[in-house]
Amino acid sequence: MAIISSNIGDNEFSFRKKELRLVDSKIIPEEKRNNINLARPVTLRDFIGQEQLKSFLRIAIDASIYRKEPLEHTLLYGQPGLGKTTLAFLIAHEMNTKCRIATAPAIERPRDIVGLLLGLKEGEVLFIDEIHRLNRLTEELLYSAMEDFRLDLTVGANRGARCRTINLPRFTLIGATTKLASISAPLRDRFGISQKIEFYTNDELKQIIVNFARLINLNLDSDASYNLSKIARGTPRIALRLLRRVRDYAQVVEKTNVISAILVKKALNSYQIDEKGLDSLDRQYLSFLNLNSNIPTGLDSIAAGLGDDSSMLEFVVEPYLIKIGFLMRTPRGRLLTDLGKKYIDSKNDNF
Ligand code: ADP
Repeated sequence: MAIISSNIGDNEFSFRKKELRLVDSKIIPEEKRNNINLARPVTLRDFIGQEQLKSFLRIAIDASIYRKEPLEHTLLYGQPGLGKTTLAFLIAHEMNTKCRIATAPAIERPRDIVGLLLGLKEGEVLFIDEIHRLNRLTEELLYSAMEDFRLDLTVGANRGARCRTINLPRFTLIGATTKLASISAPLRDRFGISQKIEFYTNDELKQIIVNFARLINLNLDSDASYNLSKIARGTPRIALRLLRRVRDYAQVVEKTNVISAILVKKALNSYQIDEKGLDSLDRQYLSFLNLNSNIPTGLDSIAAGLGDDSSMLEFVVEPYLIKIGFLMRTPRGRLLTDLGKKYIDSKNDNF
């Protein structure tokens, strides 16, 4: 797998081919295809981290089971890779029911959502990922389905048009989104439960890494797992992906299943990820700002300079650079901090 474009230097801000980043929290095709679900915890007890959310859900689930009712419609929001899909499956498992899964962009026509709803059985969970991307017609059909477990359909056209109501089984809609603000108020109001998923601590990520290593028969030492957790950007998906790439390196280059901190360092170097967990796109971004390090630069100028999409930079690259204190967002534009400048000045090797 190509990691990050290496055919341009950090100072060459021409248009780049879009390639996969190991440290991008969005799901990549390999993960979709292979459905890397081995590590998916199936009960709340196995789910690491998110303690507040878990105790909230524990009570809500137990109360629903006690009342023999489906769980209230639940909205989960947070960055990609933090466990929204995992939680949806886990909730269904805890409720002893099935989880049907759909993504909003694939629900194009009214009949798509009607088909999904009519296919549900009493108590089942319908999980809609990227729910902020539902179109208006679909959203409107969902209102009565969510509120009254009823579908109000218009059949026929013009003068012959009639209204038909179909009763639905009681179900739980679980919506997941990375953009809470893009969900319309009427849809948001129909969720009885709305919960944010936070970034994970290094210790929690380390635990997730250790569990996964055990599952895939890797002998990982404690420093190795901690070093991986530190650069995983608070995100289980990134932590597990990094571990899989380190395993590739260990097995192919070093012919071993024993992973030490030194091996992790060598593997990450080979993928151009440094000790801070930054890859070449991060460094190109910082180098670009460093050209005028004391003057705030607008996001659009940076995007044009790097040949990248501004929303990708804003939502994927910048949050981590801000989190580690390398970047500031000011009203007049983006500014490198002293820490960020010191770091990028020391990287004049330009990968
Ligand atoms: P999202 O739906 O938020 O993008 P996923 O639920 O697909 O994220 O999780 C991404 C990966 O991280 C999956 O492989 C999942 O098993 C793993 N994962 C997420 N949260 C946890 C957790 N708390 N414990 C263990 N593994 C987790």
